[in-house]
Amino acid sequence: STILVTGANSFIGGWIVKYLLEKGYNVRGTVRSQAKESQVLDGISQDDRSRISFVYVNDITTDSFDEAVQGVDGIIHVASPYHFKVTDPEKDLLLPAIRGTVRILQDAHQYNKNNQNKIKRVVITSSFASVIDPSKGLRPGYSYTEKDWSPLTYEQGVAAKDDPFTAYRVSKVCAERAVWEFIDKEKPSFTIATICEPMVFGPRVGGFNSPDDLNTSNTLVWSLVTSGKDTKVPETHAPLEVDVRDVAYTHIAALERSIDTNERYLIAAGSWSFQEIADIVHESSVIPKAIKDITPIGTKGQQQPDHFTIDSSKAQKELGVTYIPFKKTMEDLILQLAELQKKL
Ligand code: NDP
Repeated sequence: STILVTGANSFIGGWIVKYLLEKGYNVRGTVRSQAKESQVLDGISQDDRSRISFVYVNDITTDSFDEAVQGVDGIIHVASPYHFKVTDPEKDLLLPAIRGTVRILQDAHQYNKNNQNKIKRVVITSSFASVIDPSKGLRPGYSYTEKDWSPLTYEQGVAAKDDPFTAYRVSKVCAERAVWEFIDKEKPSFTIATICEPMVFGPRVGGFNSPDDLNTSNTLVWSLVTSGKDTKVPETHAPLEVDVRDVAYTHIAALERSIDTNERYLIAAGSWSFQEIADIVHESSVIPKAIKDITPIGTKGQQQPDHFTIDSSKAQKELGVTYIPFKKTMEDLILQLAELQKKL
């Protein structure tokens, strides 16, 4: 069968595409341009390339997915802006996130009406941003579950002109609220799953050719490990992490698991901090000296303050999710960053 992946060139989408092809699916990817299409193909084996095709969707705020949904059996909707280069939070973050999500649901629903309900399942990349209540701070001892929802409002997002981090969080929670409203109101023949993950790190399919290939979360690691040995280690504000390969696995497991029920899944491997990354760099036997020489030492072993956790037992039980240890996530990523550093 054929699965549509939006944002096929994205950090997370790249692994979803790769794993779907390896499992024998045909993949249709949406990207914005031919250059992005080549980027996706870079990481895909010659054999698998015959089973991927592309549709250009230039701006998810305004463009339709009509062409993209033709003939597909399932959809994984990943595309959504995750960056903080924001001049107008509504235009740059909120509208593409929300309208893109609603549009793909509408276009899939419409397609199903004329095509014997061919599309069975739609998986949406949401975020822990749509779960966490930022006003409660680090909330030591609290464990977030699928029942928790961010209380942030659309208006707070529009107003967050000097706080793109909050605007991003609003874009994600409003997009996910729109998913569940759509399901309640339209009762489409397909079912959905939303996946809520915290900070995602890990290697990129095909590696990094230039710093432009770095997505927002991996940029945090790149900045740290190239900042200089005597630089201060920054504070960590979003303390939970998960490996990109586990995120991709979860999306595909949610696509395959059930076509009968609508589900929300929370995943997280554990805690992380910038200091922990610095410690991994300096203790690891696989990370090259060239990187050790430009990574801050900070205060080795310094603990983070206590903070909330995530209960991911539902995803573990229903989807069989397991978690790659943070040390491995970092080693695999930083080895690619070392290659990038050599190219500069
Ligand atoms: P990337 O920046 O790598 O990917 C973002 C994708 O969305 C790209 O394909 C981008 O296309 C596309 N996109 C953004 N805006 C538009 C637009 N207006 N029109 C068309 N396409 C657009 O980020 P990630 O892979 O990290 O993130 C992917 C998803 O995962 C997002 O939904 C994000 O919110 C979510 N997520 C990510 C986390 C993380 O830590 N990485 C944590 C939690 C959730 P282009 O490259 O052409 O701009």
